[in-house]
Amino acid sequence: MISIENQLELCYLVAAALFIFGIKGLGSPRTAVRGNRLGSIGMLIAVIATVIMIQRDGSGGDSPAQWTWVLIGLGAGALVGAVMAKRVEMTGMPEMVALLNGFGGAASALVGLSELLRLGPQVLIWDQAGAGSDYHLWRTVLVVAVGASSLIGWLTLTGSVVAMLKLAGKWKWNLAFGGVNFIKGGLLLLAVVSSGMLLQDPTQMLWIGLLTGSSALLGVIFVAPIGGADMPVVISFLNSLSGLAATATGFVVGNNALIISGALVGAAGLILTAIMCKAMNRSFLDVMFKAYGASSAGASGDGEKRSARGYDADEAALAFDGARLVIVVPGYGMAVSQAQHAVRELAEELESKGTDVRYAIHPVAGRMPGHMNVLLAEANVSYDKLFELDDINSAFSECDVALIVGANDTINPAAHTDPGGPLGGMPILDVEKARTTIIVKRSLSPGYAGVDNDLFYRTSTMMLFGDGKKKIVELLGAVKEL
Ligand code: NDP
Repeated sequence: MISIENQLELCYLVAAALFIFGIKGLGSPRTAVRGNRLGSIGMLIAVIATVIMIQRDGSGGDSPAQWTWVLIGLGAGALVGAVMAKRVEMTGMPEMVALLNGFGGAASALVGLSELLRLGPQVLIWDQAGAGSDYHLWRTVLVVAVGASSLIGWLTLTGSVVAMLKLAGKWKWNLAFGGVNFIKGGLLLLAVVSSGMLLQDPTQMLWIGLLTGSSALLGVIFVAPIGGADMPVVISFLNSLSGLAATATGFVVGNNALIISGALVGAAGLILTAIMCKAMNRSFLDVMFKAYGASSAGASGDGEKRSARGYDADEAALAFDGARLVIVVPGYGMAVSQAQHAVRELAEELESKGTDVRYAIHPVAGRMPGHMNVLLAEANVSYDKLFELDDINSAFSECDVALIVGANDTINPAAHTDPGGPLGGMPILDVEKARTTIIVKRSLSPGYAGVDNDLFYRTSTMMLFGDGKKKIVELLGAVKEL
């Protein structure tokens, strides 16, 4: 007969397997919903097993007051999660994801801190009693893990809040001054020294305060100078850090499920960070320390100084007459205007006239990884019509119309022509090679990286100024009249 402890550990193993199959499912739009469900079921099993475990070892069950807190936490978390899931718009998802990363980091840091405050005085008593080598190993693991979960957790919280404000265009301080890397190094050193001092005496509030303060400040100083096109890398890195903080906390509280799930989030985030770096053609160290794309979100380029001719939908629709290949390039503006359903209807209309319609997906289009895939899947666009940058770029030279719906940085030739600029070196979709480029957006203002786009002023470009959805609906009406 398997003991109840082993049964609970077995539950953790099942939960970990479900997390792994869940992440695997998330790798493809076809299996993503199932993957999400598997991960959720795994988490439910892990939570139930943990609650039973706490009750059995008496650390929560002896005191009804502690159970009240657990239930309040579970209820409040479930309520806030349900309300946010219902209310947050698709365009607000990236900010919400950034915030959730931060909360994950803060939760890990707080649990680690509470364990230190609970066990610290006891540790001093055991030290004086001269406990054995097993005790010293446990004590070192405890304090090092608390130091790691505090450093990474607080850094993730403040870094994620800055990232969220940057995504929302509400962060105005770039902090990319000379010597900023020395300040980062100094703060990191202070956090590490504070952890080291806690190893001597885990009850010293001064070192706990310095560890918390320096880690929190490091998060701000670390993310603030990074801007423009490099934010996707930072956000996936912060996601990875939130996982590592959870793993460290798993060691503090001796919880295998937390160690495994944190390690999975950490590894998945690191892999995504590497993919993002490759997509942006940046080295990880350059993104983190060079303040390459330092222009902040929403910064304005000199787009307004030049003028570009605006076309109406009837004029633009003529470019589709007899077109064999049309490539749709969706971007952040499609998400803002919720134009994805209208785009699919336009594509179907063109297909009914014999046009081959494909969608070109840039790896950092929109404001979160996979943003465009999610929107197009929601509009029931078939997955086999979606092509990644490397697979579609050669097709632009054979394409009659490249239809850009609210994309800007991801098609900006400045990535080639201005190697030292915020977009320098980033692979872009080569829409300029299409016979005609139709760009749907509201004005000549730049994209997220704040760089003016020369494409708007080219003779092969037709600017269709206005809200994405409204303009695509007008275009659809005009194409039907052809
Ligand atoms: P951009 O941010 O470069 O440009 C979006 C364009 O959409 C704007 O120029 C804007 O122009 C237009 N737009 C906004 N609202 C509307 C609307 N209602 N109707 C029509 N157009 C609209 O988008 P891209 O997708 O090309 O590039 C993504 C950028 O975001 C990259 O720089 C990337 O690095 C960054 N980023 C990506 C993340 C990710 O994980 N994918 C995360 C964080 C940042 P106008 O105001 O004139 O309408």
